[in-house]
Amino acid sequence: MSVTILTIVTAVLVLAASLFVLRAIPGVRTYLKFRGKHLVTCPETHKTEAVDVAAGEAGLGTFFNEPTLRLKECSRWPERQDCGQECLHQIEADPRNCLVWNIVAKWYEGKKCVFCRKPFAPMNQWDHAPALLGQNFLTIEWRDVRPEELPQIFATHQPVCWNCHVTETFRRVHPELVTDRAYESRRTM
Ligand SMILES: [Zn+2]
Repeated sequence: MSVTILTIVTAVLVLAASLFVLRAIPGVRTYLKFRGKHLVTCPETHKTEAVDVAAGEAGLGTFFNEPTLRLKECSRWPERQDCGQECLHQIEADPRNCLVWNIVAKWYEGKKCVFCRKPFAPMNQWDHAPALLGQNFLTIEWRDVRPEELPQIFATHQPVCWNCHVTETFRRVHPELVTDRAYESRRTM
């Protein structure tokens, strides 16, 4: 008798766990699909804006079979916090191409550092961030740029690897400590 009850309880637990996993997988997928900073064209201003989708909420919505997609943050907020969030259609249609990380990775892909001519390796979250050289000859890390300004920055800046960015920054901050060997040897010739 007790063996039968144990079997029933086990069967119920296994069924409940299977149901949970079955619902959790699409929920996690939704979360992964919408997390991170995205760039959209604001339907109101037609300018690029940076937004965050409430990805955790969207994942829970999928889990409970009540899909909800809304913004958690926008570069136009708090001024326009009451907007219709119509830009969400752009992210829904193509979340990968709106993701800032993918936009940045695509820009560096196939490019070479403007200083050392070394080609950029595919971007990795754990690597040092590559940098950019502006028309003012200053290098900056792409992470220090406001995301909504990146398309504009990419049009006017050149790619710089992390090593050259560090060297150039050091050269700028401590010019008295830098000896340019190539330049020195040319000068003494
Ligand atoms: Zn370099």
